Amino acid sequence: MNPYKTQTLDSEVTLFWHRRDLRTVDNVGLYHALKEQKRVLPLFIFDTEILNSLPKKDKRVEFIHQSLQVLKAWYEEQGSSLLVLFGNPVELFSRLVPKAVYSNHDYEPYARNRDQKVAEELKTQGIAFKTYKDQVIFEKDEVIKDDGKPYTVFTPYSKRWKKMLETNPIKKYDLQPFLKNLLPSVPLALLGLAEIGFQSSSPAFPERIIKTAIIDQYEKQRNFPALHGTTRLSVHIRFGTVSIRQLTEIAVRRSAAWLNELIWRDFYAMILWHFPEVVDQAFKPAYDRIQWRNNEQEFQAWCEGRTGYPIVDAGMRELNETGFMHNRVRMITASFLTKHLLVDWRWGEAYFAEKLLDFDLASNNGGWQWAAGSGCDAAPYFRVFNPELQTQKFDPELKYVKKWVPEFQELSYPRPMVEHSFARERALNTYKQALSK
Ligand code: FAD
Repeated sequence: MNPYKTQTLDSEVTLFWHRRDLRTVDNVGLYHALKEQKRVLPLFIFDTEILNSLPKKDKRVEFIHQSLQVLKAWYEEQGSSLLVLFGNPVELFSRLVPKAVYSNHDYEPYARNRDQKVAEELKTQGIAFKTYKDQVIFEKDEVIKDDGKPYTVFTPYSKRWKKMLETNPIKKYDLQPFLKNLLPSVPLALLGLAEIGFQSSSPAFPERIIKTAIIDQYEKQRNFPALHGTTRLSVHIRFGTVSIRQLTEIAVRRSAAWLNELIWRDFYAMILWHFPEVVDQAFKPAYDRIQWRNNEQEFQAWCEGRTGYPIVDAGMRELNETGFMHNRVRMITASFLTKHLLVDWRWGEAYFAEKLLDFDLASNNGGWQWAAGSGCDAAPYFRVFNPELQTQKFDPELKYVKKWVPEFQELSYPRPMVEHSFARERALNTYKQALSK
């Protein structure tokens, strides 16, 4: 039963609004809500502004739905529940009229705009909206250069980031002493997938298990897509079903290489915060002069894993089937699309955004602009991955290729859609022309 569908809240109730933090352990905003308020009711909103743009079978929506079931069960064990609503958050908050709303920061342009409107709406009613840093270690202006400007190159950023960590050790947010401040509640109904307009495809999700054995071997194994050499925690990091502080503590103790990847994530979130224009534009404006070929048939072949380059096709098929792609192969497929085929990185970025379980605007945009050469700290434009050499180096026994493209030696398998040396020359000339203007 959900009595809140038609009624406003009791005015003594404080809401904790879950977004990219679908956990209770070590959750900063939830900690503050429970510490500072009594009668705290957790909330999740299926935001129609976001859902309306998604295909009706979307693995991420199912992931959220499953995570909400886990959250709700936990809150119910504590004698409370989870309020799940469906609609436009700004409109919903105009009706709910709680005592206060707590949440965690979200740095994407849409979310910043939405939160601004929610804050204004609540302010007109005299309701506080308190938000906290939770999903990154350092945010906004916390890691900046001596001249007060944001870093745009990773290595000096990461050095400063590590120094900052030494002087700002990671805090823990233990809810236990404050759980009594959860609002006692009957179990509230959780909307079914169909009720919010989605169909199930029963996908398998990576486990929510931090495998320290993988982290210990990370530096040696991370580049080989046939191995389970990376943690596959990205979907959990994306939706906050694990705590980034907990992971960072593990990284500091066990693997500098893995820590570096977590810092890349903070770096791209910081870039998106300071330079939201990267969503539509090249970070380096000259790269927007590139004359992309944008051949739709070629793009389609790339999407479907039919380029005739087995490593590229393996990556795209893995993505289409599972919603995951190994980082090395993300770099190879992105380089192939932007350099070999000269398709605008925004097309590839949009395709990954639709398919990746771990889709994160900041990291995806950062990864694509890195591959295309247009990003803040990108691969130089003349670095054109050779798919065959990449395969020899990172999939020498062709295990990854054989798993996803078993027919790669058969006659039915397409011939390479473009010859490598020709494509490389064409890319270099096209880039040079744009950048010399
Ligand atoms: P691990 O190697 O175990 O790393 C641990 C965590 O560190 C990851 O889960 C992720 O949160 C973070 N991380 C690792 N590498 C990077 C990186 N290069 N940049 C930023 N964060 C990183 N990552 C996303 O989370 N979402 C995306 O939408 C995304 N799109 C990408 C697009 C392209 C073109 C490229 C080249 C990379 C992209 N990445 C993205 C980064 C990276 O490929 C994935 O984070 C990684 O493959 C996830 O696998 P894992 O969890 O096993 O990572």
